[in-house]
Amino acid sequence: MKLFIISNRLPINIFRDKKGTIQFQKSAGGLATGLNSLRTKMEKHWIGWPGMNVDNNKEKNSIIQKLESQNYHPVFLSTKQINYYYEGYSNSTLWPLLHYFYSFVEYNNRYWETYKEVNNLFASNTLKLIKPGDIVWVQDYQLMLVPKLLRDKMPDISIAYFHHVPFPSYEMFRVLPERAELLEGLLGSDLIGFHTYDYMRHFISAVERVLHYKSNLDQITLAKRKVYVNAFPMGINYKKYNDAPKTAIAKKINKELCQNYGKRKLILSVDRLDYSKGIIHRIKGFAQFLKHHPEYHDKVSMIMVTVPSRDKVIRYAQLKKQIDESISSINGVYSTINWTPIHYFYHSLPFEELTALYHRADIGLITPLRDGMNLVSKEYLAAKRDNPGVLILSEMAGAAIELSEAIIINPNDINQIEESIVQALQMPEEEQLRRLHEMQKIIKKHDVKQWASTIIKELMNINKLNKHINEKIINAKIISEIKKAYKKADHRLILFDYDGTLSAFYNKPEDAYPRKKILDLLKAFNEDKRNELLLSSGRDRKNLEEWFGPLQIDMEAEHGAAYKKNNVWHERVINGTWDKEIIDILQTYADKTPGSHIEKKETALVWHYRCVDSWLATLREQQLINALISPCSRLGLQIMRGNKIIEIKSSLYSKSSGIKELIADSTYDFILCIGDDVTDEDMFRVLPSTAITIKVGDQSDLAKFNIPLQEDVSPFLTQFITTAEGND
Ligand code: UDP
Repeated sequence: MKLFIISNRLPINIFRDKKGTIQFQKSAGGLATGLNSLRTKMEKHWIGWPGMNVDNNKEKNSIIQKLESQNYHPVFLSTKQINYYYEGYSNSTLWPLLHYFYSFVEYNNRYWETYKEVNNLFASNTLKLIKPGDIVWVQDYQLMLVPKLLRDKMPDISIAYFHHVPFPSYEMFRVLPERAELLEGLLGSDLIGFHTYDYMRHFISAVERVLHYKSNLDQITLAKRKVYVNAFPMGINYKKYNDAPKTAIAKKINKELCQNYGKRKLILSVDRLDYSKGIIHRIKGFAQFLKHHPEYHDKVSMIMVTVPSRDKVIRYAQLKKQIDESISSINGVYSTINWTPIHYFYHSLPFEELTALYHRADIGLITPLRDGMNLVSKEYLAAKRDNPGVLILSEMAGAAIELSEAIIINPNDINQIEESIVQALQMPEEEQLRRLHEMQKIIKKHDVKQWASTIIKELMNINKLNKHINEKIINAKIISEIKKAYKKADHRLILFDYDGTLSAFYNKPEDAYPRKKILDLLKAFNEDKRNELLLSSGRDRKNLEEWFGPLQIDMEAEHGAAYKKNNVWHERVINGTWDKEIIDILQTYADKTPGSHIEKKETALVWHYRCVDSWLATLREQQLINALISPCSRLGLQIMRGNKIIEIKSSLYSKSSGIKELIADSTYDFILCIGDDVTDEDMFRVLPSTAITIKVGDQSDLAKFNIPLQEDVSPFLTQFITTAEGND
């Protein structure tokens, strides 16, 4: 078993030096560190763009050779592909949308076409390397289509996807014309990870609303698989940042910082140049602080480190200009011969300088308007060690959930930025250290190593679960064994549920009329004298009689309230008049829930909500149950949750009532029971352990086997008819 990590960029950068020679430089980024530190027996491989376009084939081959010797597999991209896939769809369409910058989203069909093309390229390169049983971990929004592309071609691999940026609410995500393809792409994974529970919730809601798949808490149910969704807040290499200020070079830089800035309080802000980082708001907040607090002039300076990023995208160039102008204007107004309010660096700093600044800065001012996580905030805390300091953090950063001892602010509120700076400057050292140590404890424990290993561990667990699930799914071998037992048997009991088992669910009840194929099947089973057939349904007897009466089969109606044996109907419960209170409650909920309706059966009342929006359905289902609990317990009635229904019936009978009677003194040498709903589990529960119990759709612990798709039930059953006729 091997582990393949797929990311837009390889953790190794190739570039030409001044002499034109190709150089290789390993990345020290968080992801690379986390994955390199993963303690696993698996051989690790990495697939990604090496950061450079190479035309010369000889040169390209030598690069490939060198990279592959270290298990790095480069995906070379053309300039056009970089422009349209990376700068285009990834950074000009998806990035602004995922960060709630709706009006910045650019639509261009070429962007999307190239995004698909490059995702296909990543997938086909990966498929050349992987084998069934391997593990693939896809990273981030540039490669959202890759999980499905891999799954379609090689179903027997485990795939995790981690989304490093925010996942916005459905109302934002729905704006994308390609929303369905992107979600389907991600659902090729077994495990989808986000930094926070909010992003996870937004994703599940988008899947429900755009694709109409069912979800249950952290699981999304597809036709033949389950996809697990979870939150894994990414950490940093804590030790590396915590140890950094101890080195000789760090101490030297620190001395220089003391010489340059003296006793002045330093506010530090570090980010990539990006509109999502709230740089302009931050500058305005600092300007307002200077305006309202002259007592701090000459006593406080802000150091702004802005790392150039995506400077070919026009919007970023415009932002850079705006930042330059704002800083110049503030410095122009307030600077003195001895004091500059804002020290601005528009370049990346070497690690030692960056961490020395983290260590020295009295305030870390980190105020993104949106940020998937924000690692700088965690690095600042780690590098502080025991040096007092205050973190001011935007509530819009994923990190705010873990770092609750920071001063948490709304980055859109300039007043709050100003006030939080004053609060931080006035905070007693003791409190600063207490908060700092609290947060250090958290980020030390949840470091990047732990993040990566938790995701891989979780994927392995899912792998085991899936194996267990697959073992239950009916396959040729299982069918052949069931057929053998069926053929050998002289006295068989065959139990069928109807809706969701012999028939698909329909949105309109009248569409559920049984197809000829099903009627023929039931007839054929019934004609075999060795078979005793029982059709057990939640439908009322009038309905069942109209559809199946001519077949003269035994039936159970309304989950066992009435039954037909040897062509005569009997009742287990005499129908009563329904309490007005119960009817009124149901009617109120039907009226205020578009798409739902009430069905009045002879012995049961049913609230159907198949056509109700999923979120509203969950809300109303819970509200209705709450409203019904008290009157139902008073009247001795049972509230039953079925497949998109809530049924109220007497607790004196269930689908198991008739079966218990049937099997009491039976001589059956073969029992087959097939159903799809929780109500069918009442049947599974009372059958002897030798019975062949089959759950259609989701799996059940009570059933031995599973047929994931309803449409596969009829072909499965047809095979027994031919067996009976000796055509096996
Ligand atoms: N960083 C850097 N050099 C610098 C400034 C920042 O390497 O001069 C790094 C910083 O240490 C952090 C990363 O850039 O690891 C920024 O990550 P973050 O999650 O804060 O924001 P992103 O850029 O991923 O949106």
